[in-house]
Amino acid sequence: MNSDHAFMARALELARKGLYSTHPNPRVGCIIVKDGRIIGEGWHAKAGEPHAEVHALRQAGERARGATAYVTLEPCSHHGRTPPCADALVTAGVARVVAAMQDPNPQVAGSGLRRLAEAGIEVLSGVLEAEARALNAGFIKRMESGLPFVRVKLAMSLDGRTAMASGESKWITGSAARSAVQRLRARSSVVLTGADTVLSDDARLTVRNEELGLGAELSALALGCPPLRVLIDGRLRVPLDVPFFQAGTALVATCAAATARDRYQAEGHELLAVPGSNGHVDLRKLLVELASRGVNEVLVEAGPRLAGAFARVGLVDEYQIFMAPKLLGSTARPLMDLPLARMDEAPSLKIVDMRAVGEDWLIVAVPSPDA
Ligand SMILES: [Zn+2]
Repeated sequence: MNSDHAFMARALELARKGLYSTHPNPRVGCIIVKDGRIIGEGWHAKAGEPHAEVHALRQAGERARGATAYVTLEPCSHHGRTPPCADALVTAGVARVVAAMQDPNPQVAGSGLRRLAEAGIEVLSGVLEAEARALNAGFIKRMESGLPFVRVKLAMSLDGRTAMASGESKWITGSAARSAVQRLRARSSVVLTGADTVLSDDARLTVRNEELGLGAELSALALGCPPLRVLIDGRLRVPLDVPFFQAGTALVATCAAATARDRYQAEGHELLAVPGSNGHVDLRKLLVELASRGVNEVLVEAGPRLAGAFARVGLVDEYQIFMAPKLLGSTARPLMDLPLARMDEAPSLKIVDMRAVGEDWLIVAVPSPDA
């Protein structure tokens, strides 16, 4: 039915309002429709607050009886911090529930829809499923695999270089690209970097209101739910007085002896011991730990070494590469430290999006399945 698609598209539009604030929860939108008209709308804003269905049902009130509910994710059936939405839909007396996708948690998938069906409600799932999955790629990946979705952001010149040989790299890209990076940070549960970046660029990796470019409502939500900044510092080379540590609480992942823990704690930071070898933190083990803390999306903003390390072990889900209209020349630094000897070792990517961002270009690429 075409109207199902149109109404689900509206529910997805509402869900997207939670892009910057729902983690560790998924972004969910819901609308209640009766006689072809929307009588209730809701979206989940942040963890601990009511789910999308609750807001939409509240707005619809008594009129929800006999109506159709469109939800971008299967209504929950378990008692979390809020009562189950499946029960709320039954109590409200809706006649039909259309979901974009099932709950990705294998342990609960289908149980919310089953409960609705058992109550005599007509149930349909899978409307605009691809769009719904894309919106919550991090949450879904964590539920299905125990790992967060890893997005690597890079900025390069037209000739694929990131910085001069001296390390000088300030402002390769323009203000529109910097604003886009701010929004990438804001939507992530974690912004992850390495010691080289923090030491050489004085990077803070914070979310700054004035560069976000969002409206007042979303801006306030995003700033109220900032990403955790994680520094991988295998040998604890970064001193505590750098701007990165001065800018707020951070988590430091290291494989050095954890005797320094108290020193970090005294400054408000957490030192996390992660197994590793030769001073290099085991990236997979770190990601597993982050996922266990409810981290859905990780944004890697690092130099060529750490970005290359993520690529080498196959832990990158998506590259966001900003390309500036500059040539940095052959002595400048490469995009990634990825030593390859033969063409058949070269990883294949698939470009899924490419667009102008101010005077720069953004290329979004994902590992190719047949690589
Ligand atoms: Zn719910």
